[in-house]
Amino acid sequence: MQINNSTVALITGGGSGLGAATAQRLYADGAAVVLVDLPSSNAAQLAESLGERAKFVAADVRDEQQIQAAVDAAKELGDLRIVVSCAGIGTPGRIISKRGLHSLDDYRTVIEVNLIGTFNVLRLAAQAMTGNEPLDGDRGVVVMTASVAAFDGQVGQAAYASSKGGVVGLTLTAARDLADKGIRVVTIAPGTFETPMMAGLPGEVKETLEKQVPHPSRLGRPQEYASLAAHIVDNPMLNGEVIRLDGALRMPP
Ligand code: NAD
Repeated sequence: MQINNSTVALITGGGSGLGAATAQRLYADGAAVVLVDLPSSNAAQLAESLGERAKFVAADVRDEQQIQAAVDAAKELGDLRIVVSCAGIGTPGRIISKRGLHSLDDYRTVIEVNLIGTFNVLRLAAQAMTGNEPLDGDRGVVVMTASVAAFDGQVGQAAYASSKGGVVGLTLTAARDLADKGIRVVTIAPGTFETPMMAGLPGEVKETLEKQVPHPSRLGRPQEYASLAAHIVDNPMLNGEVIRLDGALRMPP
């Protein structure tokens, strides 16, 4: 789908890491962007630095009314045709650990943000997209974010891997559910990327993570995620697919 001057992209988690890089890329490609993120995030500053056609809407992806308000704000800028769902969290902790069982509350929170939040955004945005005139056959494109943990598992990340597995199932279903509306759904499953989510790791841990990537032996760059997201938007045949972006990484046991 070609981006034109009435195209609007809504990016959740747009204030940081993969979402911020994607917002920058789609803005440079000519879309107006709505950055959806928590009030505590950097999204307001990023929107301001991008320019007049960028807007920050403070919203929690779990909240239906807040996301509806973000979708409405996007529609005020033009045609909401692109959604990139990047908001996400992880809560490390083994299922049985020194502090006892992996907390049920932690598990629930991760599922609520990563899976239910993703569904909430998909559902409300897709509803809005049905009002668009088709462009290159598409009324809209939704790009969601899973993780290689959904396929490989990840020690100490039971909630995270479960939530991302849910995003994979949602992709395969939603793409076919929304096909007759002219809306595509494609998910990127990143390996290990250099973003604030990974910041704070000790140097030796980062080195180990880099060595786990067969080629190139380094962490992914947020611009590499953004470039795949832009390609998904552009390519009308990409639909109902989950694409690993991981340098051939397979999570070790
Ligand atoms: P990040 O922490 O840099 O950014 C995530 C953003 O989501 C933050 O701005 C945060 O404020 C926002 N957010 C968190 N909870 C939210 C909520 N309830 N409502 C709205 N916004 C919320 O993370 P990132 O590394 O850019 O990750 C982006 C996505 O990619 C996540 O879904 C993550 O699980 C996934 N991912 C990342 C990696 C990696 O290595 N960085 C690997 C695989 C998958």
